[in-house]
Amino acid sequence: RPRLRVAPSPTGDPHVGTAYMALFNLAFVRQQEGSFVLRVEDTDRARFDATSEAQLYDTLSWLGLTWDEGPDVGGPYAPYRQSERLDTYRPYVERLIADGHAYHCWCSTERLSAMRERQQKLKQPTGYDRMCVGKTREERAELEGFTETPVVRMLVPEDAPTTFEDVIRGTVSAPRPDDQVILKADGFPTYHLAVVVDDHEMGITHVVRGEEWISSTPKHVLLYQWLGLTPPKFAHMPLLRNENKSKISKRKNPWARLTWFREQGYLPEAVVNFLGLLAYPPAKGEDGTDVEKFTFADFSRDFAWSKVNTVGPIFDLKKLDWLNGQYIRDLDVDDLAGRLLPYLQTAGVLGENPSLGELARLRSITELISTRMALLSEAPALVAPFYVADDELKIAQDARDGLKDDAPAVLDAAITALEGLHVPDGVLSAEAREGNQWHAEQIEAALRAAIVEGMGLKPRLAFGPLRTAVSGQRISPPLFESMEILGQHSTLARLRRLRS
Ligand code: ATP
Ligand code: GLU
Repeated sequence: RPRLRVAPSPTGDPHVGTAYMALFNLAFVRQQEGSFVLRVEDTDRARFDATSEAQLYDTLSWLGLTWDEGPDVGGPYAPYRQSERLDTYRPYVERLIADGHAYHCWCSTERLSAMRERQQKLKQPTGYDRMCVGKTREERAELEGFTETPVVRMLVPEDAPTTFEDVIRGTVSAPRPDDQVILKADGFPTYHLAVVVDDHEMGITHVVRGEEWISSTPKHVLLYQWLGLTPPKFAHMPLLRNENKSKISKRKNPWARLTWFREQGYLPEAVVNFLGLLAYPPAKGEDGTDVEKFTFADFSRDFAWSKVNTVGPIFDLKKLDWLNGQYIRDLDVDDLAGRLLPYLQTAGVLGENPSLGELARLRSITELISTRMALLSEAPALVAPFYVADDELKIAQDARDGLKDDAPAVLDAAITALEGLHVPDGVLSAEAREGNQWHAEQIEAALRAAIVEGMGLKPRLAFGPLRTAVSGQRISPPLFESMEILGQHSTLARLRRLRS
């Protein structure tokens, strides 16, 4: 059974590329009924960020990209955090040294940077000049640029293999590696050693990762060879790109951060769907057209490595917005209302413990606005007018500026028409409900009769001032339904307020 892993480094907000890799790993794992491992590669102590790991669990779980083994859930190969596995790496390093494949290097960082500068100036290939090879500590200590705590380097032979088979790309060539450090002065392994040891120890069958690791793979292949281990299969996914072809990067693009997608109000199923369209062809429907909207289960069922395109896919946020709108529209109203709630709470539209009345109102509002949002974060602006006191509703400046000279007359006509609708008081009996005229259709009929027919105004002009009075905005949820939700009392109060 295949065992795959995603191996992020906790160096800040999780990268969208981590979710992208996790999705493709997981599609294959679930199809093949294998196992998916989350391993935290925290050997780079300089870039370590203590909040990053929790964010990683949070964002991947939000996307539904869940793992079978990992630091938080445990598993047969625990621990899954590299900083807790230092004892595992040591014997491997000792063996490589004993077999002559690795050596101690005492060169100081100053000497190494001077060496690099010199090589660059002379336009020579950069790489370690092997000053320490074959020397004991004592012999080396006699020479310049010595430091007490050594690192351990790979002794890469001239004829080291530089090609390997890639599941997606076929035969791949990479440059010959230099004498890569595998154990740092702080006693931590580098990525290259730890990744090989852990992928082996954890029984990983397929290493699926970003293409920036292609140049590292020959180092890993060499380590497997020296240690007498069978390497896993390798698959290098293309990197995600911006429209200008630059690689998506956390320093430059907000959407490189996985947390951004939830903040913006994307649905996790839309994000997963979107990632599944990057460098991967959509399935064909029965009529031969592309099926661009699909679930993880659909994606996983037909997944094949051979279909992955190696050209870096453009991260088209317009496509994601479109997909998100589709998903929002297809959600059941209670589900959507539940998902809007945290956005409304964060924006302060609703409190931490909304009342049953507020929640019932949210359900009605959700029905009105579900087709008007591409992002859940657009909801607070649409919903807020329904939860503010009538005399605290803010009237947007552009809405106020848009009012024409006939606005007072329109408001007067609307007030008279709506006052004429019968609304029984108190708890409504079935009979009283029959007599209740406060329904969107009746509201619309009364307003049309009074303003469109009565005053001879075009509907678009006729209802503008009413929209502004009720929602404070020029663009709002459907007007008559909004009035129905607000109730007669609030609606009239808002119309009178704008009139005065
Ligand atoms: P920076 O902003 O410093 O350039 P970065 O965005 O390149 O950072 P890293 O911290 O280097 O991010 O990488 C984090 C993880 O995200 C790595 O696993 C890497 O393979 C993956 N990754 C980085 N950039 C991309 C990309 N454009 N597409 C897909 N995966 C990426
Ligand atoms: N820690 C590496 C990263 O963050 C893992 C790369 C790999 O999958 O081998 O990209």
